[in-house]
Formats: sequence, structure tokens, C-alpha cells
Amino acid sequence: MPQRRPAPASAAPAPTAPAPIVNAMSVDVEDYFQVSAFAGQVARDSWGEMPCRIERNIEIVLEILREAGAKSTFFTLGWIAERYPGVVRSIAAEGHELASHGYGHQRVTDLNRSSFMQDLLRAKGLLEDTTGQAVLGYRAPSFSIGDANPWAFDCILETGHRYSSSVYPIRHDHYGSPASPRFAHAARPGLLEIPITTVRVLGNNFPAGGGGYFRLLPYRSARWLVRRVNQVDRRPAMFYFHPWEIDPDQPRIAGAGMKSRFRHYLNLHQTERRLRRLLSDFRWDRADRVFLEAGP
Ligand SMILES: [Zn+2]
Repeated sequence: MPQRRPAPASAAPAPTAPAPIVNAMSVDVEDYFQVSAFAGQVARDSWGEMPCRIERNIEIVLEILREAGAKSTFFTLGWIAERYPGVVRSIAAEGHELASHGYGHQRVTDLNRSSFMQDLLRAKGLLEDTTGQAVLGYRAPSFSIGDANPWAFDCILETGHRYSSSVYPIRHDHYGSPASPRFAHAARPGLLEIPITTVRVLGNNFPAGGGGYFRLLPYRSARWLVRRVNQVDRRPAMFYFHPWEIDPDQPRIAGAGMKSRFRHYLNLHQTERRLRRLLSDFRWDRADRVFLEAGP
């Protein structure tokens, strides 16, 4: 009788662990002097005179993503597309998703319905003309859509976008709608809202999708938060960062308040390393592929 041989390793039953969730990575493409916190120091009509760091910083961001084998969505200002079309083309050429961050980083709370429509159309037109690809996504500057301006979702839909990522459901002094839904949902029929990721602990939402928190807290906190959303909520995370956050040598803005300076310059030298770890510890892809193809 032939002797039974142990089954080869490849015939062992497959482990039953669920497939890892693919999260959405995003970059808000604006320069260090265009952030809302410095609006009082750098007037919009003087942006053109500021030393621009966007070409250098996007090149580094693209290299980090390339090395991690990850794709991302780039919510880009129309102002940047107008002046640096090569930057926008290089983002699209590497297979990333190009989306809109409005034209000139005006908060939606500072616009009325018709000026918001103009801003949406101008940014979308510039971005689409630069790459020839349709722009489906929009992110409001400073997450400035909430209970005060629900009409903004109608404008985003009417201007041909299919999703928005404009709400951060946390309590923050500059932005945030803590009572808004935490996960992707239809804001209107045909328009998905993909909020920035939060973790719910003891009845409160904690920021888990980036921003200054990613630089403030140790990396292991960021990893714990994203892991919790994937493992406990079983949902993909929506994470974001800015190109200036990986640029410790950016020119300093004179005259900004202490709080703004603390938030903007904190741990800039650590962000690139943390980002590389985050990209390797989880799976990441463009927001359209993670959320639109999955449906609401
Ligand atoms: Zn922004």
C-alpha cells in the first residue's frame, strides 16, 4: 500500500480572514500661503508674487506614492491648474485621479449660490481643459459645507460632479459638522458625500483622516485610528494631506498668530516619514475607485 504523503503547503485551507479594505488617499493641492489660516496675512491678489513650492512638493508627493505603489485623488485648486498646468498633467499622467478644490480657495460659507456655481465651473473647466479628463470629485476649502449651506450640494451636482468630500464630522474652531453622517452617503440622488474619516469613542467623533492631527499625534495613533475604522466599522477610510506638510523648508509667513503658526509648522519634518509608513501599513487607492465603483 502506498504511503500517504503529507499534502503540499499550497493545498492547505485558505485562512478565513477578510480581504484587507482599500482606503482612499487624497491630497489637497494648494500652496503654503493659500491656506485659510494665513488669509489675513497673504491677500489673494498677492498670491502671484509669493515664492511657489508646489512644483517641488508635488514631485516629492508623486515619488512617495510611486514608491508605495499607491494611487490617490488630488483635489486641486483651479488657480494652481492655471499657473502650473505641468503639475496637473504630471498628476494625471501617473494614473492618479484629478478632482477639484475650487478656484481660489474661498470658503463656501463666504459665497452665495451664484458665486459658488461660478467657482465650481471655473475650477472644473480649468482642470478638465488641462488634462482632457472629466473631473468627478469636489472638496470644499476648509470643509465649509454644513447646516448653514445645504444648497451647496445642489450646486455641486448641477455642475456635473458625482461626489463631494467636503464634510469633516468633528468639532473644530475653523470647520467641522459633528452631527453629520460619518460615512459615505447620498447627499442628493446622484451625488455621494464622502466625509473625512472619524472614529467614534464615548459618544464623540475623533479625527482619523488627517489634517493637523496627523502631525500632532504620534504615528501609532494615526495607525490605530485607521485600523479601527477598517476592523471595527469595516469601512474604508478617507484620508487627506497637503503638499506643504512635507516641506519643512517652506518660507515662513510673517505676522501670523501663535495658534496658526503652531498648527501650520508643527512636526513638518516628520510628515514624509509618517506618510510613507501609513502608505505601507494600509492599502490605498483613488477616491473614485474606492467609493464610486462601490456605490453609496
Ligand atoms: Zn484647502
